[in-house]
Amino acid sequence: MKKITIAIDGFSSCGKSTMAKDLAREIGYIYIDSGAMYRAVTLFALQNDCFEGDQLDVERLRSLMPEIHVSFRLNKETGRPDTYINKVYVEDKIRTMEVSSRVSIVAAIDFVRTAMVAEQQAMGREKGIVMDGRDIGTTVFPDAEMKIFLIASPEIRAERRYKELTEKGEVVNFDEILENVKQRDYIDSHREVSPLRQAADAIVLDNSHMTIPEQNAWLMAKYQEITSA
Ligand code: C5P
Repeated sequence: MKKITIAIDGFSSCGKSTMAKDLAREIGYIYIDSGAMYRAVTLFALQNDCFEGDQLDVERLRSLMPEIHVSFRLNKETGRPDTYINKVYVEDKIRTMEVSSRVSIVAAIDFVRTAMVAEQQAMGREKGIVMDGRDIGTTVFPDAEMKIFLIASPEIRAERRYKELTEKGEVVNFDEILENVKQRDYIDSHREVSPLRQAADAIVLDNSHMTIPEQNAWLMAKYQEITSA
């Protein structure tokens, strides 16, 4: 069957990566979590003294960009790709609140986006890819055959994130997570370069009250509908 490009965009903690990863595995496509790439750049910036508190030294990060190489390796146990910076495993470190609270600042910078978008487009050149993020259907793959825009209420998204982090043993505060979710929504939708917005030809799914099997079934039905047309 002819391979297509699948773009899944939406707000933070909507469950995009869960549905994207499951669909990719089911249909034998590559799955790329583009958010992990922005998180990796943010971690690298933190590790290399580009931040003073929440203040980012943009010029320092610009000078370090050529040294940052983000890659993925499939973890057979979780079925997800793990993230590496310069071949060092960073999957756990990029998911902490320390990174989450700064990633939208880094992701709003033009030279960071230019570099990441170029890598993402290279990864999708052969099609057969499911990529999730904020600007995949609008900027990275505007010609994607299948575009999904996922939404869910901020409270439900914060609850999911709270559960995920507590299960990993991180001590977190629900209100802080809710605040982070709302703040990232705001920065992601108001930035100048590639703001988060629904592509005109995207199919919207509100999964606030859906289980994971329900949303996976919905996505698979859409995939079958699009590829059999
Ligand atoms: O998807 P995730 O929440 O892990 O993404 C982390 C952050 O990376 C988002 O809040 C957003 O600021 C940024 N991002 C982006 N463009 C993408 C994917 C993520 O700006 N395509």
